[in-house]
Amino acid sequence: MGAFDHKTPDTGSLGKVGSSTPADSFSVGGSIPECLKSGYNRRKFLSVTGAAAAGVVIGAPRAESAFFGLMGDKPVPGIPHAWVQAKGSDVLRYARYIQSLNLRNITPRMVLAPHFKTRGRIHNCLPPKSLWTQMGPTLKVIDKMVTRIGAPLREITSAYRSPRYNRAVGGKSRSYHMRNLACDIQFQGISPHHVAYVARQLRSQGFYKGGIGRYSSFVHVDTRGMNVDW
Ligand SMILES: [Zn+2]
Repeated sequence: MGAFDHKTPDTGSLGKVGSSTPADSFSVGGSIPECLKSGYNRRKFLSVTGAAAAGVVIGAPRAESAFFGLMGDKPVPGIPHAWVQAKGSDVLRYARYIQSLNLRNITPRMVLAPHFKTRGRIHNCLPPKSLWTQMGPTLKVIDKMVTRIGAPLREITSAYRSPRYNRAVGGKSRSYHMRNLACDIQFQGISPHHVAYVARQLRSQGFYKGGIGRYSSFVHVDTRGMNVDW
C-alpha cells in the first residue's frame, strides 16, 4: 500500500470549552459524540464541561473518586474530566496504557487529543480495546524521534480514526490510522522534511519497519511492518 494515506491534513475542529486554559482547550465540540455512552444526559454533560475545564485530576472530590473507584480506574494527570464524561472511563484505561509505555516526550493527553476531533458532524472515537496495544510501537518510534530532533512535539494531529471519521477526513480506505498503527505529527519550528529524514534514519537503523509520509505541514509515521514512503 504505497499510495497516499489521506488527502487532507487531519487538523479538523476541536471544540473549545469556554473559559478553559489553552492546555485544557480540547473538548468535544458542539454536540454529543457518537461514541458517547448510552443513556448519558446532554444537559448534565453541558453542566460539567465548565468545571471540567480545570482538568480535575489530582485530589479529586470524594464523589468523583468514588466514581473512578467503582470503575476500577484512577484519574490520570492531564486528562480533563470532560473527556471521561464524553467518551467514558475507557479514556482513563487507554491513558494508563499509554502511560505504561514510559515515553519520555509524549503524554497520554497528546495521544488522546485527536480522538476528540470532529469533521463536520462526524466525531472521532477511541480505538476499540483490541487495537490499543497496536499504538505502542508507533509511539516509541515517535518518542525516539523527538529525542533525536531535540525539539518538542507540537501535536499529534491524528492517531486512531474510526472508519466513519476516516472517510470524513478523506483518509485512504485502508488507512493504517483505522488499525491504530499510525500517527500524523507536527513539530514546532522543524520542517516536515527534517522530521521525515529522522524517521527514515531510525528506520534504516532497524528501530522499526513502516510507512513514512511527508506532507506540507505534518509527517505520517506508522509501524505496519513493511517499509513504504510517500
Ligand atoms: Zn497519516
